[in-house]
Amino acid sequence: MTRMIHKVLLTVAVTLLVTAPSLAQDVENLKLRDYRPQSVFRVPVTDVTRARYPVIDVHAHDYARTPGELDAWVKKMDTLGIEKIIILSGRTGSQFEEIIKRYSRYPARFDVWCGFDYTGFDEPGWAERAVAELEKCYRLGATGVGEISDKGMGITRSKDDPSHNMHLDDPRMKPLFEKCAELGMPVNVHVADPYWAYLPMDSTNDGLMSAYRWRIDLTREGIYDHAKLIQTLENAVRDNPRTTFIACHLANCDFDLSILGRLLDRYPNLYADISARYYQTATIPRQVRSFYSKYRDRLMYGTDMSTATEMYRFTFRVLETADEHFYFRYTYHWPLYGLDLDDDVLKKIYRDNALRLLDRKGK
Ligand SMILES: [Zn+2]
Repeated sequence: MTRMIHKVLLTVAVTLLVTAPSLAQDVENLKLRDYRPQSVFRVPVTDVTRARYPVIDVHAHDYARTPGELDAWVKKMDTLGIEKIIILSGRTGSQFEEIIKRYSRYPARFDVWCGFDYTGFDEPGWAERAVAELEKCYRLGATGVGEISDKGMGITRSKDDPSHNMHLDDPRMKPLFEKCAELGMPVNVHVADPYWAYLPMDSTNDGLMSAYRWRIDLTREGIYDHAKLIQTLENAVRDNPRTTFIACHLANCDFDLSILGRLLDRYPNLYADISARYYQTATIPRQVRSFYSKYRDRLMYGTDMSTATEMYRFTFRVLETADEHFYFRYTYHWPLYGLDLDDDVLKKIYRDNALRLLDRKGK
């Protein structure tokens, strides 16, 4: 009898211990940002430890700050099947010099891209100075430019004043884009942000869980909205046909891929990278699969999400598998689905398209 009571008490204690976190939650007032569902579906789960084909990641940043961190990153690349990574430093001058020097220990594994120097962009003679700086970075080893970013306030670093700023299609940018064409340097451009960030922040916002953090205040004077930003991309791509543009994050058109499709149809000098839009695309797998298949020659693999091994494996799982209803890091409240891309599509997006662009070096 005593032993039985003891057993019951033990069971109660264990149950309390196991369920304690959920008992502690005030579910009536659970916040969307705290929502952490766990799938109950017994469906296939594929553990992709290494990419099916060699990979070039065209969208990373200067994450390895020490030689030791760089060595560790290269070891991870070997394990994961990543042949090469493009570091979008966005820097010029001594900062660029320092970064490219650090990565030069692995010349076959990293390409480092520079930025544009906007210092004094509204003063006479700026274009000549900026072009000279671009040529200097090119001589130091820059093979492209990026990431040039405009979420509404402009591309220069004076983010808070739209009157003292430029957008991508500003005529003052033309000499720089022409120089990029001459040197065979593609330009990686980030226009707009996820669509939900521009919508009202209320209970109807489909992407609220992340969009609230990334929200754009459209009441700010002079700010461009999503459509206007896409128009600046189109203007720049159209007006500089010899320059290769890579619209990163699918030009933030994952909510309506027909917008990007129209631009790709119209402008052969435009490409897109798929970095940091895995959560957004993995919720509409059939649409995205057919889009990636149709534009297989124009899309490139990228990450833009640190150097974590599980992050890379997550991107491989989204692209390669047909896994259903899974979660990773809870960026949105919705579950994810693998795209199950064909081998030919996968090979082109993983590597072949990037290789073609990088081959243009110096032409
Ligand atoms: Zn980026």
